[in-house]
Amino acid sequence: MPGLMEGKRGLIMGVANDHSIAWGIAKTLHQHGAQIAYTYQGDALLKRIKPLAEQTNSDIILPCDVEDIASVDKVWATLKEKWGTIDFFVHAVGFSDKNELKGRFADNTRENFVRTMVISCFSFAESAKRAAELMPNGGSMVTLTYNGGDRAMPNYNVMGLAKAALESSVRYLAVDFGHQKIRVNAISAGPIRTLAGAGIGDARYMFAFQQKYSPLGRGVTLEDLGGSGLYLCSDLSTGVTGEIHFVDSGYNVIAMPQPAALRE
Ligand code: NAD
Repeated sequence: MPGLMEGKRGLIMGVANDHSIAWGIAKTLHQHGAQIAYTYQGDALLKRIKPLAEQTNSDIILPCDVEDIASVDKVWATLKEKWGTIDFFVHAVGFSDKNELKGRFADNTRENFVRTMVISCFSFAESAKRAAELMPNGGSMVTLTYNGGDRAMPNYNVMGLAKAALESSVRYLAVDFGHQKIRVNAISAGPIRTLAGAGIGDARYMFAFQQKYSPLGRGVTLEDLGGSGLYLCSDLSTGVTGEIHFVDSGYNVIAMPQPAALRE
């Protein structure tokens, strides 16, 4: 099915480098015919994202810091001017001070709580509203979450709260935009080695634990996430909205690791 995204175009927010989840999704959407515009956060990342965007024949690469609403507005105004309409929007943006992604949640600060929420949660709704204006014929929006929003994970702390709120936003936005035939879903990714992923305290322990105890007995890949991104952005999932779609080798279904003898 190489042409699933033929004739569709959209914005991908959150490529930092070729390990980014956003890049895994971008590559797959491009392979299936999508036309992609990108945002990048800060000049330092431009040199990394430019060659990646070129690999997907994209020449729309726009600066955007979601803490600066003027830069967000500029992105959507530019897309309106260049394309008029879009079909999909992928939000793969998250940040929290890494000094607070370790130790106890109880010790986290108010300042970082607010910043984490604005960048990792509210930025989705803020852009979703603007994206919907460019989707007169319907469309699909996808954000990235993690199971640490549902359950307490070591060191994930305030990011867990941001993901819980983000998942709730997915459901509210699905209702807001459903009558416009705009679908809103999240991919809940298993731990994967990215810049953001590495910022979480003792990330190696999380990767190893997931690999060892998930039903599939492995971590997740950018290709796994790309495939699910394709499903949610394309017409393969036209009846799906407000969902949290796990791509985590099944880790979220276990209550307790299987004893070693049963894993062999
Ligand atoms: P990544 O570091 O490649 O991507 C994070 C992106 O967020 C970067 O492109 C960064 O520039 C962007 N960003 C941060 N602050 C920003 C701001 N103020 N304005 C604009 N952009 C900003 O890491 P990733 O793991 O690919 O993260 C993408 C998403 O996936 C995040 O929401 C993350 O929480 C989520 N996620 C990651 C994992 C994992 O294990 N890596 C698991 C589940 C969910």
